[in-house]
Amino acid sequence: KKQLERQFRGLPSVTKDGHRVELAANIGTPKDAAAAKAAGAEGVGLYRTEFLYMDRDDLPSEDEQYEAYRAAVEPFGAEAPVVIRTLDIGGDKKLPYLPLPEEENPFLGVRAIRLCLDRRELFRTQLRAILRAGVHGNVKIMFPMIATLAEWRQAKAELALAMQELHERNVPFSEHLETGIMIEVPAAALMADQFAAEVDFFSIGTNDLVQYTMAADRMNEKLSYLTDPLYPAVLRLISSVIRAASAQGKWVGMCGEMAGQPEALPILLGLGLHEFSMSASAVLPARALLSRMDRAAAVAFADEALKLGSPDEIRAAALQFISKLQ
Ligand code: PEP
Ligand code: MG
Repeated sequence: KKQLERQFRGLPSVTKDGHRVELAANIGTPKDAAAAKAAGAEGVGLYRTEFLYMDRDDLPSEDEQYEAYRAAVEPFGAEAPVVIRTLDIGGDKKLPYLPLPEEENPFLGVRAIRLCLDRRELFRTQLRAILRAGVHGNVKIMFPMIATLAEWRQAKAELALAMQELHERNVPFSEHLETGIMIEVPAAALMADQFAAEVDFFSIGTNDLVQYTMAADRMNEKLSYLTDPLYPAVLRLISSVIRAASAQGKWVGMCGEMAGQPEALPILLGLGLHEFSMSASAVLPARALLSRMDRAAAVAFADEALKLGSPDEIRAAALQFISKLQ
């Protein structure tokens, strides 16, 4: 570990043949940001803001949120990107002070952006806080669980309203934040070419994308064999999303667990993923592994891997690819 730190901390993430990617961290609290930076992350690829709303009795105010987002942004300075995801509540996450109707299938219910578009005051309060934090660094906004272009456009319209509100109050904020969406619903993955014309970036949420593609609850241990991101069906979606975005000059990240799994690295590098966001402790090992890979070889490997029919075969091929690295 000491040697990893000496060799790879504070350095850019590049392959042996000079291809650059970004290795970022997933965080859940502002405190995690400084730790992620110390652990070698080049930025934050996913700040799960829902934790700010949990374990309390009422909604956090705009000022309180602003302070939290600012604290998460500042350790990364003016340049390094910090992607703040808007509230993703519902599904398995509940708020005691925000009673939601009982649902038969919470993961298919009023969750994330669906909830925020239903509670626009709550949503705009958060958007204003994020916009204000944008003054302190390179903040990007990301909307979770987007399934349709209409949802994305409504979210953007709320962002424009939030800007107008701050403008009227004469409060400083950043007007030029990049705005993107998570790709975690298969419908959005399939429509990536049309989304790519409008968004600044995508971040693939494989935890949910796998669950919704394979129709297997990510919390159900009996179905764990179905929640493998290396299923060819999932890889095809990932591949087409990256292609659709790249064709229009947009960057694509990944913030699901897959992004930090060593055996997924050759394929994701080969498919052209630009940013990998993972738990902070996985960053330096990933940078070390990346430094031993050739991007050209990874492209050829991904091509072959996409022809295989099962996650087991793909994993075996990936591990073999890794074992042959110098
Ligand atoms: C995902 O779905 O992959 C993701 C990163 O979001 P979460 O795990 O918070 O649902
Ligand atoms: Mg998700």
